[in-house]
Amino acid sequence: MSKHAQVSNLTIENVIGGETRPGSSERVVRVLNPSTGEQIGTFRESTVEEVGQAVQAAKAASRKWARTTPGERSDALRKLADAFEANLDQFVALESADAGKPCTTAKEEELPGILNALRYFSGAARSSTGPAAGEYLDGNTTMVRREPVGVVAAITPWNFPLWQAVWKIAPAVAAGNTVVVKPAENTPISTTRFAELAAEVLPAGVLNVVHGRGHTVGEALVSHPDVDLVSFTGSTRAGQRIAELAAAGPKRLVLELGGNAPVVVFDDADLEKAMPILANAVLFNAGQECMSGTRILVAEGLYEKFTSQLADAMGRWKIGDAGDADTKLGPLISEQQLASVRKLVENRPAHAELLLGGEAPDGPGFFFKPTLIGRLQQTDELVQTEIFGPVATVQTFAGEEEAIQLANATPYGLAASVWTRDVARALRFTRDLEFGNVWVNNHMAVGPEAPIGGFGASGYGKEGGATGVEEFTRLKQVVVNLD
Ligand code: NAD
Repeated sequence: MSKHAQVSNLTIENVIGGETRPGSSERVVRVLNPSTGEQIGTFRESTVEEVGQAVQAAKAASRKWARTTPGERSDALRKLADAFEANLDQFVALESADAGKPCTTAKEEELPGILNALRYFSGAARSSTGPAAGEYLDGNTTMVRREPVGVVAAITPWNFPLWQAVWKIAPAVAAGNTVVVKPAENTPISTTRFAELAAEVLPAGVLNVVHGRGHTVGEALVSHPDVDLVSFTGSTRAGQRIAELAAAGPKRLVLELGGNAPVVVFDDADLEKAMPILANAVLFNAGQECMSGTRILVAEGLYEKFTSQLADAMGRWKIGDAGDADTKLGPLISEQQLASVRKLVENRPAHAELLLGGEAPDGPGFFFKPTLIGRLQQTDELVQTEIFGPVATVQTFAGEEEAIQLANATPYGLAASVWTRDVARALRFTRDLEFGNVWVNNHMAVGPEAPIGGFGASGYGKEGGATGVEEFTRLKQVVVNLD
């Protein structure tokens, strides 16, 4: 029996107003297990009318939900967290089969991380900030109300299907909004199951899910006049299109787009400590992570030693079916993503040095071997592009100034790390790196308590922390005349 046996032949349906019902367009979308390439489910894409029904369900629930107390919303999210925890193993199986998550990593890291975020946002529902009320104008009391924005559209990617959905749903709901989620078309399963669980805890219409492709269902959702804010995670290209559509509202946006994180390694870095962290920074989720540390810059004299140690650390990651307990490196999400990574690697310039991997292994599924490519130059496509696969590039630099210049010289600004034992140098880099998340002697360590979000082509707005909840609120100034 296949290890993914419990995830097969699924019919995936929309969740609208607390009820599960299928989409009704002619278009049937097949959902594949990326470890095997086999079909595990299908859904019928939603029509524009069904998108409208989901938005109307959210709008109808909005007024009442906005008037619940923060304590009530906190309790509801805590109950949802408890229900999620009770079903954690089921979600591990779903994410593993649908998104190719190695099941042990999903069970030990990703799913507990989602639970942790749910619990954080449950607490954050009860805390709100703003200026104190006061008599700033003579004879008047001025106060500021923080209110939910209304109906939130959440459009999520395939690399962290449930993680991304929860990081949007939970803060939006905590702040008193209602939500319509459109999951990525190749990973619709876990979000649907989550919404079914939520239907037992949240009032009907607070959380809705519609399924379909980006240019059809996604665009209909973004363009719907009753959507007040769009929170999107995905490619810069799709983010730009969404911003164009939202401009007609105009609608508020939170855009978490691509990244191309530099990892700057000085010759005083603790390499022994760095290697497992950097192998993880390159290979976690098969490199399909917007914060992946795939653009490595090393001090000139360190190149040989560094690349040989990193190739060794990356080569130890066991590649295999995501359902196998000892798999660390699972598949890419799709044949298309595999083709895109393969093309970038095969088209590497003549001056590049292939240090590890460079090809897909034999057999079924969408796998690519851990790959390390050295001696690259800043203008090379492999350096400028977000690869989104288990591939790292290595360049060298001569000193701090050049390192900063190279690190900052792509359009992206999501995440970066610097590796050194020199505290003053580390602090100079935290100042000069133009990225929304900067680590010193670490990479990709994030928790829900602090805001995440990029600069430049990586988008704008924050997810996580009190700021991530406040993104889903609006401020209203109220002035009361005292005479
Ligand atoms: P994508 O941006 O096209 O898709 C992400 C989500 O946006 C999906 O739900 C999709 O249906 C939706 N979408 C796409 N176009 C839309 C539109 N016009 N209107 C509304 N919704 C739309 O991502 P992809 O094509 O699946 O991946 C391509 C590249 O995007 C990847 O190689 C990677 O570089 C990047 N990416 C980044 C992230 C991230 O976490 N930042 C996640 C996924 C993909």
